Amino acid sequence: MPANGAPSVLIIGTGFGGIGMAIELRRAGFRDIVLLEKAADIGGVWRENTYPGAGCDIPSPYYSYSYEPKPDWPMRFSLRADIQEYLRRTADKYGVTGLIRFNTEVTAAAFDADRGLWRVETATGATYEANVLIPAVGQLSRPAWPNLAGRERFTGPAFHSAEWDHGTDLTGKRVAVIGTGASAIQFVPLIQPKVARLTLFQRTAPYIVPKTDTVYRPWQHAMYRRLPRTQLAERAFFWGLCEFATVGLKGNRAITKAVEWLSAALRARQIKDRELRAKLTPDHPAGCKRVLFASNYYPAVAAPNVRLETGRIAEITPGGVRTGDGVEHPADVIIYATGFRTTEFLGPMKVLGLAGRDLREYWSDGARAYLGMSVPGFPNMFLMYGPNTNLGCGSIIYMLERQARYIRQAVEHIAAGTSYVDVRPEVADHFDAEVQRRLARSVWSMCRSWYREDGGRVSTNWPGLVSEYDRRTKTLDLADYQVVVR
Ligand code: NAP
Repeated sequence: MPANGAPSVLIIGTGFGGIGMAIELRRAGFRDIVLLEKAADIGGVWRENTYPGAGCDIPSPYYSYSYEPKPDWPMRFSLRADIQEYLRRTADKYGVTGLIRFNTEVTAAAFDADRGLWRVETATGATYEANVLIPAVGQLSRPAWPNLAGRERFTGPAFHSAEWDHGTDLTGKRVAVIGTGASAIQFVPLIQPKVARLTLFQRTAPYIVPKTDTVYRPWQHAMYRRLPRTQLAERAFFWGLCEFATVGLKGNRAITKAVEWLSAALRARQIKDRELRAKLTPDHPAGCKRVLFASNYYPAVAAPNVRLETGRIAEITPGGVRTGDGVEHPADVIIYATGFRTTEFLGPMKVLGLAGRDLREYWSDGARAYLGMSVPGFPNMFLMYGPNTNLGCGSIIYMLERQARYIRQAVEHIAAGTSYVDVRPEVADHFDAEVQRRLARSVWSMCRSWYREDGGRVSTNWPGLVSEYDRRTKTLDLADYQVVVR
């Protein structure tokens, strides 16, 4: 048990990463913990993404903290409000909510080596100091707007899917949707019945496979409550399924071919028009971009009021979208479902480490961190959901729990009288080289996606199974770190 709850810890962000980290530290007896949250509520992506149909495509028994099973999830693939409520309740239950400073956006952080302290500046002008800094700001928190000419000239409402404008009624409107990723395929089926006309701009056809959703019945809730192992079995099943799928993503083409077949079978069943089916057929190997789960997307695209436009967008006009063939597609509303700035980890924050080293410069040819958490020259700073910890299939909460466990051990070393711990550069470099070597053989290196930097480096994804990540992060090896004692 640490003396006086020390050292002090600052966590940035209150999504599943930040809340889970605070819980782990509190359970280990640490008390000097503050969480800084830019918004007025907790939830991360589950607070931000309020578009119709927003939900998780990883089943809830797996997409939840292992120590906090919820027997009464309404559905297998939960919607965002239920997920956010789960996070809120969990934060309350473990005494974390009171540690959060809301409406406090971090703008900069700098390490003071003499005092062994991180000094954090915020947009409100308030500053905070702590021995340990844990940014848990996610990979999908900053919307990406496409660089399309004329975007500002459009006269009607236009918004990003991650900043849904609920004040704009889409009923009876001509709506243009740009993008066909995980967000679009969730809201398109919900808005399609109410709009007059929907023009869906698809640059790349995604792989879509059936979503095996289910509304849990009261008897299932009762069973999960009385026999928790039954829910654990469901969790274990989806864990195993994703581990199997990841073998494919790592390079086993037999498995990714099976996914391609599954997606083709869904198209054959749901899309009768051959021309439309051809347009919806992906031209890259499955898994290279995220495989999407939806049983209602293809029927929505095939509806008479929807036009799938695959021509290159030339410009946005005051009244709609013009494609490269010169045709203008009129629209009253434009919805940009164009994803997130995923490779700009820590976004607009200025982070300075030892001797004023700028994290942005260190990452100028791609973000990297040892085990996705530690960056040389940035002592006592540990990232959650950092570089190369995203998954092609699996629960990010599983990864976050492993990160929390590892970081808690680092904090324990710091509590034991250490001024700071700094990952050895050679350890971090060796790890990065290994990760990149393995990723080069994976399916993610075979097309452009949000997993990759402009230069081609895959900087978001973990190259292996989650069980490997579990093993490699179980015990922090202090030999990987330079330990500077005051
Ligand atoms: P995304 O997967 O990055 O999709 C963005 C879409 O916009 C793609 O279709 C992309 O086409 C298109 N696009 C981007 N720039 C464009 C341009 N200039 N012109 C035309 N099209 C353009 O983003 P997302 O759908 O928001 O999803 C991001 C990630 O969030 C997901 O992969 C997933 O990890 C997570 N997410 C999960 C869920 C879930 O659990 N169900 C739901 C939503 C989001 P290209 O493919 O050609 O680049």
